[in-house]
Amino acid sequence: MFVFSEHVNLKKERLMCGIVGYTGSREASPILIGGLRRLEYRGYDSAGLALLGEDGDMQVYKAVGKVANLEDLIKDKNLSSGTGIAHTRWATHGAPSTINSHPHQSQSGRFAIVHNGIIENYAVIRKRLMGMGYTFRSETDTEVLVQLLEYMVTNRGITDTVEAVRATLKEVIGAYAICILDRTRPGEIILAKQSSPLVVGVGEGNSEFFVGSDASPIVEYTKEVIYLEDAQIARIVPGQPISITTIENRCVQPHVQHLEMSIGSLEKGGYDHFMLKEIFEQPQVLRDCMRGRVLPSRHSIVLSALSSHSEVLTHAGRFIIISCGTSWHAGLIGKQLIENFCDTPVEVEYASEFRYRNPVIRKDDVVIAISQSGETADTLAAMQLAKEKGAFLFGIVNVIGSSIARTATTGIYTHVGPEVGVASTKAFTGQLTVLSMFALALGHLKGTITDGFYHEAVDELYHIPDKMEKVLEEDARIADMAKQFTYARNFLYLGRGYNYPLAMEGALKLKEISYIHAEGYPAAEMKHGPIALIDADMPVVFVATQRHIYDKAISNIQEVKSRKGKVYAIVFEGDENVSKVADFAIKVPVTSDFLSPIVSTVPLQLLAYHVAVNKGLNVDMPRNLAKSVTVE
Ligand code: GLU
Repeated sequence: MFVFSEHVNLKKERLMCGIVGYTGSREASPILIGGLRRLEYRGYDSAGLALLGEDGDMQVYKAVGKVANLEDLIKDKNLSSGTGIAHTRWATHGAPSTINSHPHQSQSGRFAIVHNGIIENYAVIRKRLMGMGYTFRSETDTEVLVQLLEYMVTNRGITDTVEAVRATLKEVIGAYAICILDRTRPGEIILAKQSSPLVVGVGEGNSEFFVGSDASPIVEYTKEVIYLEDAQIARIVPGQPISITTIENRCVQPHVQHLEMSIGSLEKGGYDHFMLKEIFEQPQVLRDCMRGRVLPSRHSIVLSALSSHSEVLTHAGRFIIISCGTSWHAGLIGKQLIENFCDTPVEVEYASEFRYRNPVIRKDDVVIAISQSGETADTLAAMQLAKEKGAFLFGIVNVIGSSIARTATTGIYTHVGPEVGVASTKAFTGQLTVLSMFALALGHLKGTITDGFYHEAVDELYHIPDKMEKVLEEDARIADMAKQFTYARNFLYLGRGYNYPLAMEGALKLKEISYIHAEGYPAAEMKHGPIALIDADMPVVFVATQRHIYDKAISNIQEVKSRKGKVYAIVFEGDENVSKVADFAIKVPVTSDFLSPIVSTVPLQLLAYHVAVNKGLNVDMPRNLAKSVTVE
């Protein structure tokens, strides 16, 4: 399995997975399980909880898969306890497994922790503690937090738990929302956060406290909440006011807010569908994807897969990208990126075709397998074939520890968090971001792009999430435009250059969720056939954000217009010419041609989404489709 080791500098909050906590006079376990269910919309791969009895007895349960599995596991247990913490995990370090699930306990079993986020310097701390005789049970970054806490108490003699947590967090770089139980302090939970969200619900007269990654597990019990701020540590004990201090040991006056939200409005993070939530979280998840890899201060890109296998990758005679569906479209864009920046030929194959041919594999071929789930059966089989023929295997996947991640020698995780909507959105833009980072970093290493180009491109890539945010502001206009298409039977998507695979991806999105027939074509090919289809009833979506072929795009649009076709164009801000001839234009912020698919895909996703919603279809689970295609 390839490991993921780059991460620095967190800016905005990570919207990852879930934490729930409770301390008070009620039974904790049903509140914890109910709370985890409320957070299920965030996606996760495993779940667990720890309960602390009044006598300091600690019980920990963990299960891979759904919260229902955890519920099954605990249903016959005697769990009477008023204090507990619970977690849904989306693995970032170490595969999804029972051992890697949270809560994690310190060596002596005194402390238990749940954590959302990433500890960037975990490897150094882990090594140091192991040198001092600490044994680690899991592969997670999280475990270092709880072992370091024990070290602060045992080896450094810090007796106050909050003080020990403070000393621990001072040594840590990264993102975290954490809840800690201490067997010597029944009834107490210690919380802290940095870049990951954490909310505390305050019961009547401080009689009880609820904790959540957001307010959804809390609002059915209380509307009085405190949102913890970065670098704050809180201590909650029933019957006492919450005490909040900072990592620098300043006291903080708690700011209690009254929430007006209903439970319904909090489901799926307030979005109507997972797909919409995932479209809207793209700017944030792409920041996560680039974190620690794109270094704006140095105008450079660091990829551990590249540094550890630079010899093979810089000397690759050819890249063969194998994938299916949306990942195949990402691969087609990846081909153009790698050929443009690295001067190495690239072939892109459907995994399902590749595996049943007798493909020629040469010694210096590198096979890149792209898959969101990392379990795509055809892609996995194609990798196995390529391996037998001696290719070097590289993976681009989202799910840590998945079969493709384990089969590849090295690779890059997209790190866009769990994708629930069947029609892929953020996984696609994550793949494009990874492919852009890879092509730029490799090109720079090979010397096939200049320093100047590289630095500018890196800076531009870093700002792509801000540009996506601007595009998302167009949502209402796109929803309006989508109303016209509820009864359309066919659609044509056109683009050239980097936008040709994007046209295919736009068409696929529409097909998948609205069941309208759509085709994506390289615009100039239209006159060799599809133009025969064009009439007033055929909407044509034209992605015209490639400057070097801009004039050609205008000619193609004229061809459609002169046959009474309706043109809906995606253009750069400032465009006048295409907007003049198109029936409807959506403007996206100007960026480099090679990065424009990442922003231009957003209106295509929103268009498909709104058309499907208008038709009253099940957007998140379209008929006949599965999220992870584990059959051939
Ligand atoms: N980095 C931690 C892990 O891999 C926490 C992941 C999460 O936020 O769920 O276990």
